[in-house]
Amino acid sequence: MGKTFDSNRLKELTGHANPLEILNDPYMNKGVAFTEEERDLFHLRGLLPPRVQTMEAQLGRALDNFRCKPNDLEKYIFLTGLQERNETLFYRLVMTNIEEMLPIIYTPTVGKACQTYGHIFRRPQGMFISINDKGRIAELLGNWVHKDVRVIVVTDGSRILGLGDLGAHGMGIPVGKLALYTALAGIPPIHCLPVTLDMGTNNEALRNDPLYVGLPQPRVTGEIYDEMIEEFVLAVQEQFPRAMIQFEDFSNDNAFRLLEKYQDRICTFNDDIQGTAAVALAGILGALRITEADLCTQRYLFMGAGSAGFGIADLILRAMEQKGIPREQGLKQFRFMDSRGLVTRSRTDLRGRKSEFVCDDPPLTDLQQVVERFMPTVLIGVSGQPGVFHQGVVEAMARINPRPIIFALSNPTSKAECSAQQCYQWSDGRAIFASGSPFEPVTIAGQTFVSGQGNNAYCFPGIGLGVIMCEASRVTEEMFLVAAQTLAQMTAQSDLDQGRVYPSMQDIRAISLNIALAVVDLASKRGLAQRDLGEHAKERISAWMCNANYRNYANR
Ligand code: NAD
Repeated sequence: MGKTFDSNRLKELTGHANPLEILNDPYMNKGVAFTEEERDLFHLRGLLPPRVQTMEAQLGRALDNFRCKPNDLEKYIFLTGLQERNETLFYRLVMTNIEEMLPIIYTPTVGKACQTYGHIFRRPQGMFISINDKGRIAELLGNWVHKDVRVIVVTDGSRILGLGDLGAHGMGIPVGKLALYTALAGIPPIHCLPVTLDMGTNNEALRNDPLYVGLPQPRVTGEIYDEMIEEFVLAVQEQFPRAMIQFEDFSNDNAFRLLEKYQDRICTFNDDIQGTAAVALAGILGALRITEADLCTQRYLFMGAGSAGFGIADLILRAMEQKGIPREQGLKQFRFMDSRGLVTRSRTDLRGRKSEFVCDDPPLTDLQQVVERFMPTVLIGVSGQPGVFHQGVVEAMARINPRPIIFALSNPTSKAECSAQQCYQWSDGRAIFASGSPFEPVTIAGQTFVSGQGNNAYCFPGIGLGVIMCEASRVTEEMFLVAAQTLAQMTAQSDLDQGRVYPSMQDIRAISLNIALAVVDLASKRGLAQRDLGEHAKERISAWMCNANYRNYANR
């Protein structure tokens, strides 16, 4: 108090050489919420307006600003700006308005943000590592200011959501996913590192865009690509030995290959494949709580035979195996259709994993006919083809089943196989419907139906939290299974009564905590936990989770 500014003293206290640096540090900055004492201590007087305001007042202002924005992209830009100015306020705002903010910081708005990244770019978030950095990736990672990184989300930008190759502009995805780790599972942001591996882009329009921020050259492939990934993985182990690596939005060929290559070697997973499966399985388990039926006796028809479909099928089969049904036997209860019809053994055009999922039925190309012949209890859309669950298909499902389970998981909303309204209407309100993108509640003949959204955000933050807390050496398939089972159990009866197979997003912190506990428990049973949390695991995890409260710097 009353002391003249002393740069060395300030540096000792805060790590910053002058007061402006404090205001520019999103981790420390509290804006007008800096207290009188802190303003003296950090020499902030005169640099802030005189009235000290509460976080609640700041939140009110931020929310007003957010809601005034004319469209979702502007809202995204506003939130990014807030995150860069005052991280604590950003997370508190998101945490207290989860359902409103989630579609902005993540899908669908994040997709638009990636598509326009070069135009809305203000300052970089995360790390960009390009193919030109090959040979010195560890050195680059050493430039990251926070040294105790526990979770890395990495993309090569080759398949951003359903939008294709967006190259380095895919950075919005790791940034968004890590924001969810903090907002939904309380993982402190200093432990999170978003990474984009710039391998070039095959998107010619981007390469020709003068505002493209990545390398304007075609993608590298083959050996060089693999060497780059390998070097990145090794460099992470060197610089951040406690970090879990989440692969995100890699094109299908690489996604499966890299998962297979690394899942037994390092602590890693792929959310597009494994996280999607956990959320879909949780939805099915929720639906089966409504129909009071057993997972092992269902007949599953998948429209779409790609990474999402096979990931979901693998996890259902795993759940069946847990109940004593061998995979080979379980497979008989599955059918897959792709753009050329039913995936049958007689086909000669099957690539990749499709040959593992063939059936011996005669060929058919029409979905309704397959429904009528196979008589599925569960129909899952992962084809990216809007309208393929037409009236005839839904009516056929409703003829066969008193409560047909119909999930139209393709994103975004415009790609959904059918809408919630159509599904309820064509099934006389009997269908149990869930989708990949949100739909508004539907009212038919005075009854309101609230459909569930199979949002990956239900599972991966909790799984990550569990893995980090017990320092699990691997992320296993079984962890996704327990995550799905835990999530399904958390759906309230009142939600199920309305046809909603997932719990409310408002409860996401409790959901993440429970999933984390289940993962920790499993990891210790399987000998994968490198840190024992003991019998007070729940309290220890809760205490570690960040709540986005301001630190009190003056009373330390
Ligand atoms: P993919 O490209 O690997 O697979 C798509 C499959 O659909 C392919 O087998 C293709 O042959 C098939 N297909 C294309 N046209 C078809 C047609 N007319 N009839 C039948 N099948 C057809 O893609 P993916 O990663 O499996 O994703 C598929 C969809 O699932 C996407 O729309 C994605 O948004 C959605 N998805 C949703 C979630 C979620 O809700 N949580 C998660 C992941 C993916």
